[in-house]
Amino acid sequence: MGSTGGAGICHSYVPDGRCITLLKVLLTNACLYDCHYCINRRSSNVQRARFTPDEVVRLTLDFYKRNFIEGLFLSSGIIRSADYTMELVIDVARKLREEHHFRG
Ligand code: SF4
Repeated sequence: MGSTGGAGICHSYVPDGRCITLLKVLLTNACLYDCHYCINRRSSNVQRARFTPDEVVRLTLDFYKRNFIEGLFLSSGIIRSADYTMELVIDVARKLREEHHFRG
């Protein structure tokens, strides 16, 4: 559910019907896999970039404090393995929730 219009910003609906604004970002667009429908597949000739978990945390908090977003929609290409990648994604969530008390 939601729209992907606008660079890095998407909208989604929460259960009470409100439309919220999310920062939509990938930890990295580099990926081990080669899904044919995906622009970030291994064989795609796109420029690659990668954030550290701390960079995504900082980016999210900065956007949130400026009232640009209400939450984070984080995904990623597969870096070393699915488990390794998910550990990094969870690290972002844990830092936001537990270290910075982010409630978005
Ligand atoms: S990012 Fe996801 S959809 Fe794209 S190639 Fe990797 S695994 Fe497939």
